[in-house]
Formats: sequence, structure tokens, C-alpha cells
Amino acid sequence: MKQAIENAVVWDGERVIERGSIRIEDGLIAAVGPTAGSRFAADETIDAEGRLAIPGFINAHTHLYSSLARGLSLPGYAPQSFTQILEQLWWRLDKAFDDSAVTTSALVGAMEAARCGVTTLVDHHASPNAIPGSLDRVRDAVCRRVGLRAALCYETSDRDGDERALLGIQENARFLATLDPQDSLCSGLFGLHASLTLGDGTLRAVAAKFPDGAGIHIHVAEGPEDEPQCVKRHGVRIVPRLDGFGLLRPRSILAHCLHVDADEKDLIAKRDAIVVHNPRSNMNNAVGTFDLDGFLDRGILAGLGTDGLGANMLAELFTAGLAQRQARQDALAGAFPQLDRLLFENNPAIAERVFGVRTGRLVPGAPADIAVLDYAAPTPLAEGNVLGHLLFGVAVHALRVSDLFVGGHPILRKGLFVDLDEREEYAHAREEARRLWKRIA
Ligand SMILES: [Zn+2]
Repeated sequence: MKQAIENAVVWDGERVIERGSIRIEDGLIAAVGPTAGSRFAADETIDAEGRLAIPGFINAHTHLYSSLARGLSLPGYAPQSFTQILEQLWWRLDKAFDDSAVTTSALVGAMEAARCGVTTLVDHHASPNAIPGSLDRVRDAVCRRVGLRAALCYETSDRDGDERALLGIQENARFLATLDPQDSLCSGLFGLHASLTLGDGTLRAVAAKFPDGAGIHIHVAEGPEDEPQCVKRHGVRIVPRLDGFGLLRPRSILAHCLHVDADEKDLIAKRDAIVVHNPRSNMNNAVGTFDLDGFLDRGILAGLGTDGLGANMLAELFTAGLAQRQARQDALAGAFPQLDRLLFENNPAIAERVFGVRTGRLVPGAPADIAVLDYAAPTPLAEGNVLGHLLFGVAVHALRVSDLFVGGHPILRKGLFVDLDEREEYAHAREEARRLWKRIA
């Protein structure tokens, strides 16, 4: 199958081609160059009409199950701490999930991700009363029905008792064993909630079931209480605690890491583990500021996620910069090179570790993961200022994706889903959410 996108402003991740073409052959990018004078016998040609074609976005930490929480209001919700946000909202919501709600939330979350130009996501799933088979349901919705790349895991935790902790371990181990190494669309990690809800017995059991070459996906030092609680209960800080069980590896994703100290950062760097920053979620929960310099200066592979708060990676990146400047009262903090590194260098490197394929650049041989944005620049757009357009144009005004491809497969065409009826799916999701909200105790 040969496809061509013609007449696009192409940003391949580095270069800008003002009137460019992208050639796709069997799901891979075959060539990128100027449209003028090009000859390519494509089976299918898309006229981008001057829209901006860029590498599809990667969301390195999200929770698709949160997509059915929009508009939910819970009586008596008045958290005084991050733990109380979990207790009063998320741990009440996740217990109400049944198999059907797992599927629907994943489908809607993935559709919204696609609408935001996300072609790859790393999900962290929780449904304590519907654990067995939940990752298959999420995979079928995200990878098969919507068609995105997704790395999935189940959030193992002791917070709902021994039986559910064991079911969580079993679900991760079962799912990891079903993965086909040839399938770059679907991958997996070993999911853990956070140190504060994981006893040593469970971490020992996880370590015993942990496949070679796998990674964990866990929240680390998100709330200010996580570290002191760990020291009090286990006599050690969180990062060395996880390391003691052999869980810090190059494919391990540590989300947040807001309150880790310098020694812990050194240990993360030494183990070459991954850190994912989620600025809007952090600000929403009022949990602290990410030490962007501290991670990047150590050479730690630090990327960007939304933590389930939408899927707009440009809004997330814009906020990452604002958060640094505001917290440090320094207009030069969170500078463009650092932001570029988070989303456009490190997220593709994270995806490469997790999926085994290199995305994030529109170059020959790379998978054709492409987002075509409905963006007309009112000022010159050229090499070196694309990030300025993406942040102060697209992120600030409107992110509209007209066409989206994952491995050459069209997900969106002219702003519409190719294989899904969005109105029908959303009508179904509203009914599902109504039932889900009624079950919340
Ligand atoms: Zn999270």
C-alpha cells in the first residue's frame, strides 16, 4: 500500500518543508521532500491544502479510565491532602468500574487522544472490581478499535486487600505474557500504584513475577506525604526502596517524582530509569513543582504525560514552561530547548524503549505516525521557530487535527474518524458514565 500526503507544511521534527510531501509505503515513511516535481504512484493521495504535518504526539503517562469522570461531582468532596484526593475521588471512582465501563472509558479516552494528535500513549489502568482481563479490554479499545499505539499496565495496589493485590499482579503478568514482540502497536509494563499503597510482600511478589527486560510503571513522590510515609514505614526513601526490589530499570517509568531528593535523582540516573512530568495534573492537585533542571542536567530520560487530564500534549508542554517560570520567578526557566527535549526528544526515546520502534521524526524508515494540524500561521514559520508556533499558536488557540495516521493506518480523515461513529460512541459513553456515577459509593 502506497500513500502520499501532498501540499503540507511539513515539520519532520527538525526541518521545515514549506510545500512538502510525505510518502508512505506499507506503514513506513518512504520519503519526505518538496511536493513540486515529485513522482510517486500512490494508491491514495491526500491533499493537505497547506496544513501542518508533524510527528504524532506521545503521551508518556495517562489514565484513560479518567475519561468518564468529566463533570462528575461528588457530595462532600473536600480534600485536605493529596491522599484525600485519591480517597475521596479516584479510589471511589475506580471501584465503580465494571467490564463494560473499562471498555468504554478506554475507547473514549483513546478517541480524545486521537483528536489531540496523539499516536502513542502509555496508560496506567485501575478497576479493582473488574481486574481480570481488563488490560485486554483496554487494548481492544485503544489499539484495535481506535488504532493507537498503547503500552498498558494494571495498577497493582494493597489498598483494596490481598486478593486484589494478587489479581493485579496476575493481570500484569498474564498480559505481558500475551504480548507479541512483532506487534509494535501494543506493549505493556508492570503496573504499580505508588509506594504508599504497596507493602513489601507485594513488591517482593512483583519482583518474583517480573519478566526480564520489562519495566514498572508507578507513581513516585507525587503528593508531599509519599516520602515521609515511606521513611516512617520502611525506613528508606521511595526510590531506594524500589531499587531494593530490583524494579528500577531502563524501561521503568516513574511518574511525577516531585519530592525525590538529590540522592534519589542520582540513583534514577544510575539505573537509567524513566521519569515522566505531568505539570497540569500537579498544578490541579497542588502537589508541588517538578525539578526540571535537576532531572535534565543529570541526563535522566524525563518525558511528558497528562496523567489523565486530557491528551493535549501541547497544552501540557506550554504549562510545563509556565509552571517553571511561575514557581521560580524566572522568565528564563522552562526554556524552549528544555521543553523541546521533554516532548520531542525524550518522549520518542521513551516510546522506543517501551515499543521497540522509533517514532517522533518523519524520516524514511520510521513508522508513519503523523498528525496533520489545521493550523495556518499568521507569521513566518520556519526551521527553528516551530515550537513557538506550536505553543503560542496551536496550544494557546486551538489544537485541531484534520488527519491522523498510526503506522500508515488512517485514524482521522478531514477531522472525522475513519472507522468509528463518534456521535454513536459518545452517546453510548454518556449512558455508561451515568451508570458508573450511580455505582459510586
Ligand atoms: Zn498518574
